[in-house]
Amino acid sequence: MQDILDSPIEYLKGVGPKRGELLRKELQIHTFRDLLFQFPFRYVDKTRFHKIRELEEDSGAVLLRGILRRLDLAGEGRKRRLSGQFRDDTGAIELVWFSGVHWLQKQLVVGQEYVVYGKIQSFRDGWSISHPEMEVVSEENTQAAASFAPVYPSTEKLNAQGLDSKARRRLMKALLEKITPDDLPENLPEPLVQAFRFPKRWEAFQGIHFPKSEEELEWVRNRLKFEELFYLQLRLLRMKYKRKEEIRGYVFEKVGDSFNEFYTQHLPFQLTEAQKRVIKEIRRDLGSGIQMNRLLQGDVGSGKTMVALLCMLLALDNGFQAAMMAPTEILAQQHYLSITSYLSAMNIRVAYLSGSIRGKARQAILDELASGAIQILIGTHALLEDNVVFQRLGLAITDEQHRFGVAQRAKLWQKSHAYPPHILVMTATPIPRTLAMTLYGDLDVSVIDELPPGRKEVITQHRNENHRLRIFGFMKEQIALGRQVYVVYPMIEESEKADLKNLMEGYEAIQREFPLPDYQISIVHGRMKPAEKDFEMQRFVQGIAQIMVATTVIEVGVNVPNASVMIVENTERFGLSQLHQLRGRVGRGADQSYCILMSGFKLSADGKARIRTLVETNNGFEIAEADLRLRGPGDLQGTQQSGLVQLYIADLAKDGKILQAAREMAERILGEDPQLQRPENDTLRHFLAQDKREWKGWSRIS
Ligand code: ADP
Ligand code: MG
Repeated sequence: MQDILDSPIEYLKGVGPKRGELLRKELQIHTFRDLLFQFPFRYVDKTRFHKIRELEEDSGAVLLRGILRRLDLAGEGRKRRLSGQFRDDTGAIELVWFSGVHWLQKQLVVGQEYVVYGKIQSFRDGWSISHPEMEVVSEENTQAAASFAPVYPSTEKLNAQGLDSKARRRLMKALLEKITPDDLPENLPEPLVQAFRFPKRWEAFQGIHFPKSEEELEWVRNRLKFEELFYLQLRLLRMKYKRKEEIRGYVFEKVGDSFNEFYTQHLPFQLTEAQKRVIKEIRRDLGSGIQMNRLLQGDVGSGKTMVALLCMLLALDNGFQAAMMAPTEILAQQHYLSITSYLSAMNIRVAYLSGSIRGKARQAILDELASGAIQILIGTHALLEDNVVFQRLGLAITDEQHRFGVAQRAKLWQKSHAYPPHILVMTATPIPRTLAMTLYGDLDVSVIDELPPGRKEVITQHRNENHRLRIFGFMKEQIALGRQVYVVYPMIEESEKADLKNLMEGYEAIQREFPLPDYQISIVHGRMKPAEKDFEMQRFVQGIAQIMVATTVIEVGVNVPNASVMIVENTERFGLSQLHQLRGRVGRGADQSYCILMSGFKLSADGKARIRTLVETNNGFEIAEADLRLRGPGDLQGTQQSGLVQLYIADLAKDGKILQAAREMAERILGEDPQLQRPENDTLRHFLAQDKREWKGWSRIS
């Protein structure tokens, strides 16, 4: 039977070939289904009038009724604007326009009663609206419950071709009139719909586009969110179970000479309990005959590298090669250095590969890799290239994997012959539970929740320019104790020039305060050549320089246990997880360490919240949760590329509860009926088989 939702979009009333082409090009809307699934990104609530006195920070867009009291042109040139005062019987607000001011000045009548609609912003002690919609009061626009209208994403081209938000509403109306409940059959089990008191599926689609009230919107939206997350979880969990049933893995059955020799003779410290536990979990996987896909989460400094090394030795003991990959050259090199130094007393061949290794050197590595002479290969993305061929890859470890796409993870699979290699994904950026359930919903998870002994919590304080001299004094005290200090500046591409100037000025001020020959200062920033950077970095690592002035290039991986002070300049410009990473550069030795967050005097609410979070907690998971709350999942480091958080309607930052419920439900259903073969699960099996074309984002994960 022909599914009406598959009809090409131009067949919809009011579209036709020309607009159809535009919708395809501009919004990737090809079919009726695509249009149906483009949900409004907001709604215009014109169902009630607000009173000016009741307005609040989060009132958003509001409808007001009142009298235009004054209208003045102000400012010169590009700053020219038209500003008006608008009053109702409870107060006044400012209206302001920056373009079309002369025309507007002629149109608008002082003393006239208007209906005004727009988004409020705080202004001086009150509120303002820029470019409000203005209509002279009429019977039509003042009647109660005027409308609760959807607003759809649009582009200039669409607007120009008459496909503005109003026209899009008409199209959607036309579409919804054509669709019957049979075209959108229920896809959740009946008992579940009942238990949650969800609307039927067809009702939900009607409601999401044209809700009659805020309450109805909430009700249908929750159902659609649940549906999206439930199927996502069902798919992820099915993948995980299926893989466990079907995908065999190499069996690492023995603990051999490499592991034992290293463990008994060269281990530089006692493993923490958490490290031991995690290694046990991994060993169980490696011996099971099923391919391992495990995520290892552990805060900065929790000792993941050692865990990785011990696992690699297990691979070697069983006749396999191991690979370890990091997202940046600096981080990969750091791994290479620590692994080779841990193994210096043993006869194990470790090699390094990155894009900057070319020609003969590269060929030599490729040859030795193919022959099996290289036992451990460490490097960057370069490891994924097709011509990097292993003799017998048994274990692949990626560090900070969330910066690698899921597709790249899959690519590792092809590096092995009989079975895919075991995969261990390490991350130092703790991921909030909700996000982990989605990004890594198909993986098993291990957590190192303990830092090596003797570490003291980094003391974090928020300071400003008034404290500068005292901070210099503090730096001197610490340096006199033999410690080292980082001073970090933000650097973003768009404002690179200003940032560089800022950094150089700071550097000069520090030079004046900390003169040669008593003090040596390293400087590292993105504009330097790699060799220079390396030279400066080495001076600090070796303890020749006491102070390192740098941009965020030192964010990941740099390990100088003797550094005890981290000073962050312009803290308000850094993201929360980035700041946590930076702070992780200190507190790596046994000394009490300090993190000083410098900021300007004026901070946004978000900036304040970020700084407060850091001062209050050192716990990476708490920080990740706060980050998710403050910024939303789309902005979290690394998650954008993954494509996984491109959900249609659910929001991982806000819908944790729905996600949890969806996950539990999916687990319960699959737990009882892993193949979804029971009759009551027919709907689910059916819909899973065809859901790729509906919730498009999901197909990326399979
Ligand atoms: P991560 O990669 O998890 O951020 P690292 O592996 O770089 O952490 O370890 C941080 C530091 O802690 C390193 O200097 C490492 O040698 C040290 N370390 C790791 N495990 C232990 C342990 N069990 N006891 C003492 N020090 C440890
Ligand atoms: Mg690390």
